[in-house]
This record gives sequence, C-alpha cells and structure tokens, in this order.
Amino acid sequence: MTEISKLDKIIKPSGTMLISNKARELREAGKPVIGFGAGEPDFASPDYVVSAAIEAANDPKNHKYSPTAGLDSLRKSIANSAHSNSNYLVDPANIVVTNGGKQAILTALMSLLDSDDEVIIPAPFWTTYPEAVLLAGGKPIFIETSKEKDFKISIEDLEGIKTDKTKVLIWCSPSNPTGVVYTKEEAKKIYQWVFENDLWILSDELYEHLVYEGEATPSPAIFDKEFNNTLIVNGVSKAYAMTGWRVGWLIANNKVINLAKKILSQTTSNVNNISQLAAEAAINNGLEVTQNMKIAFDRRRRFAIEKINSIDNLSTTKATGAFYLFVNVSHYCSGLIENIKSSEDFCNWLLENYYIAFVPGEVFGAPGYMRLSYALSDDELSEGLNRLEKAIKDISG
Ligand code: PLP
Repeated sequence: MTEISKLDKIIKPSGTMLISNKARELREAGKPVIGFGAGEPDFASPDYVVSAAIEAANDPKNHKYSPTAGLDSLRKSIANSAHSNSNYLVDPANIVVTNGGKQAILTALMSLLDSDDEVIIPAPFWTTYPEAVLLAGGKPIFIETSKEKDFKISIEDLEGIKTDKTKVLIWCSPSNPTGVVYTKEEAKKIYQWVFENDLWILSDELYEHLVYEGEATPSPAIFDKEFNNTLIVNGVSKAYAMTGWRVGWLIANNKVINLAKKILSQTTSNVNNISQLAAEAAINNGLEVTQNMKIAFDRRRRFAIEKINSIDNLSTTKATGAFYLFVNVSHYCSGLIENIKSSEDFCNWLLENYYIAFVPGEVFGAPGYMRLSYALSDDELSEGLNRLEKAIKDISG
C-alpha cells in the first residue's frame, strides 16, 4: 500500500479542538450545550478593527503580496506597544508577523532546533507545544508540577532535567491551562538560570495583558536586551478578541529572524494584508478594550472559583491570569461511576449527559484535571456550573 508520512503516528490533533467539535455536533443536534472549552474571548472584535479591515479590503494595494516579515506599519506598532505596554525595546526589524501565535511558535522552534534537541516544557502545558516541538524535529521533555506548588517550576526542577541536549525552555505566564502567573522574583530566577546556561527561552506572552490580581510577569526581553537567549511570541487573538483574524508575531535577534523569514517565505509568503491592517488598528487603539474585557473576565473568574470550590471534592487553584481555571476532578476519575476511569471519561460523561463541555487534563499532560474557560457569558457560566453541581450531586447520590 502507498504509505503516508510517519508523522501521522507522531502528531496528535489539537485536543481542545476535538472537544469543541464534539460540542458543536451535539449543539447542531439541538442539545443545549454550554461550552467551557473555547480558548477565546466571547466578545466581538472592536468596531474600529472591523472598519479598518473594510477600508483595507477596498484598497487594491492590499490585494497583492506584501513583505514576508509583515507590513512595516504593523511591525512599528508592535514595537511601540512592546515599549509602552510591556516595558522592553525592540527594533521593528526584529519582528516577523505570522498567522497567529501558533505559527510563531512553530516557526521559532523550526529556527532553533536540530534533530533530537531537547525542549523543556513545564506540565500542564498548552496542548500545541509538544506537537510543535515534534514537528520541528525536536524532543519534548516535560517537568511535572503539582497543585501544591501552584503548578510552578523551580530551578531545582530545571537542574534535575537539563542534559547536554537541552536547548530551549518554553515559558508561558499567565499560563494556559492553569491561569497561574509567576511573580517577578520567581520569573527573574528562571530567566537567570536560562541565561547562565546559555539556553533559549521561548516566552509565549499571548495572555500578558490578562492579569487580575498581583503583578504581571515581566518579559525576559526586559532583562535580555540583545535577545541573546530570548524569543517572544505574541498576537492579537486574546487581548483584542481577534482569534479568527490570525495575526501573531515572533520577536528575536537578527540571526533567528533571518532564518524565520526564510521559513515563512517558503511556507506562507505573507499574512493576509487585511488582517494585518486590522491588527494594526487594534494595537494603535490601545488596551482600553482589553481593560473592559478584563472587568467581565474577573467577575466571572471570582464567581467560578467560589462555585467550583463549593462543590464536593472539586477544587481549583486561585488562577489570577488568562481566562482558565484548572479543576482537580481526580476524585471522580477512579471508578466511582461505572466506566469513568479518567478525566477524559469524566469530561465525556459531563458532555453527553449534562451538555457541559470541558477539556480533559490529559490534553495538557495532567490527567485528573479538567480545564474550564470562563470566557463565556455570565448567564451561561452560572447555568453551566449549576449543571456541574447537579452532575456531582447525582454521582454522590
Ligand atoms: N499560546 C497560548 C498559550 C494559547 O493559549 C494560544 C491559543 O489558544 C496561542 C498561543 C495561539 O494563539 P493564536 O494562534 O490564536 O494567536
């Protein structure tokens, strides 16, 4: 038989998308599904973003190919925002625009890794990281963390796992899926360790502007001004409610950026010009829209934490960033109910019987947990959590 690539056996599809698809099928069959699975704001993109896109679509200049690295004007806006909103300096020449943060991550890893180079990924992790490492020919190496330590890694963890093949640490604070945010002191220690060991840190900052309590985590770019060890991934998806527009970016030193440009020039040529100009409008209009979303997210976060912790044998960490809670459901995954032996079984059972969709912890390398996104309306959040409470009462008899 004609064979396809071995990648077929190596790469998993996006787990978060699997649950969203299943929820969509049930919804289409007329079931009143409430989705806690989506990793995107429930708000529409701002009006000025939509207007900028319409204007861009009407200009024939934007119907043509444009520079692989991204539109100059957008790269300048990104650099200005990094300075005023994230406290580090970057030359626009050190930015490449990509189809979402997701493509920035893959491009970064392809630019850094040779075969079998090891990439440290703290678990629980965002589901794409290990697959992107594998696609880039590297080897994902996981650090297990615990709820007791707020799912945070330490220098001891890093020392324990480092080998002479270690090349990159993937870093994400605020974290998807836990919502945990490292403090400045904690982050600085980790960055120092990376710099001293002359490794790369790939810092995924998609949620940097969604922190509800305490200080935000400073970017490693603040300390590594020459980008000797640092790569930054960011985008407009989460901060500006623009997931469908597909605009992200990678920031790195010249050497990395030149290779990234070569890769992009042979894969996607340029990001859709209309989306790039829409993203530019979002960035130039500042973070007021983000602050407004934050008010809603924070209200829902507080409500959801209190409700979850009031349900028998469920608990969540006090997530202070992104829009996720990571809920310990291990009590209900050990055969208490027939055929429920994992968080995946538990999430399927909740979806099929109570029409509430959560993402099982297995997808994030943390069995016994499930991820809840609170980026949904207050009414849906309340109704969905009432159903979860009822499900647990039904199990407990
Ligand atoms: N990084 C993290 C941690 C995410 O949660 C996501 C999206 O869910 C991304 C990166 C990629 O976002 P996008 O490709 O929409 O920019």
